[in-house]
Amino acid sequence: MKIGVLAMQGAFAEHIALLDRLGVKAVPVRLPQQLDGLDGLIIPGGESTTISKLMLSYDLMGEVKKLAGNGLAVFGTCAGLVLLANDIVNSGITSLGVMDIAVKRNAFGRQQDSFETDIPIPVLGDNPFHAVFIRAPIIEKVGNEVEILARLPDGIIVAARQGRLLAAAFHPELTQDLRFHRYFLDIMA
Ligand code: GLN
Repeated sequence: MKIGVLAMQGAFAEHIALLDRLGVKAVPVRLPQQLDGLDGLIIPGGESTTISKLMLSYDLMGEVKKLAGNGLAVFGTCAGLVLLANDIVNSGITSLGVMDIAVKRNAFGRQQDSFETDIPIPVLGDNPFHAVFIRAPIIEKVGNEVEILARLPDGIIVAARQGRLLAAAFHPELTQDLRFHRYFLDIMA
């Protein structure tokens, strides 16, 4: 199995390091030909506006969209989640639009721009997951094909899956918990 991490901007090094701990050597992806032969791709957190622009100028937007339509597994965290969405309610940025979710960018008020909290994620087992939110988006609405994986105590949706597409509003790559990435490797396999 071959996995890539989109390495335009943002927390790509952290994803690569975490995968390394799982014994998986990831390919940093900056050019379309580096997508060749990948079974999975991670789109990291960062600044979705910047990542979107860079993906467009390096011809990665159309290519990743096409591959995702042909079964490439894609895992987006934070800004990566925004880039997967087919509806970004408060921004006009170009996204891949492959996942049937409506997303709101920077959805938490100023005081809570960043926070950490333990949330239950049943598909990962009984132990809660330590979720790090940094100027995070939320998922406001999901389509019929989408499975909700995690919510905050107030019901806000913060992780979801649609077939081979996986999205988290928080940053599993900034924790020592390998379960979310392992879950993605299982989806890829
Ligand atoms: N606020 C960022 C955006 O919308 C996401 C922040 C992050 O990825 N940590 O692009």
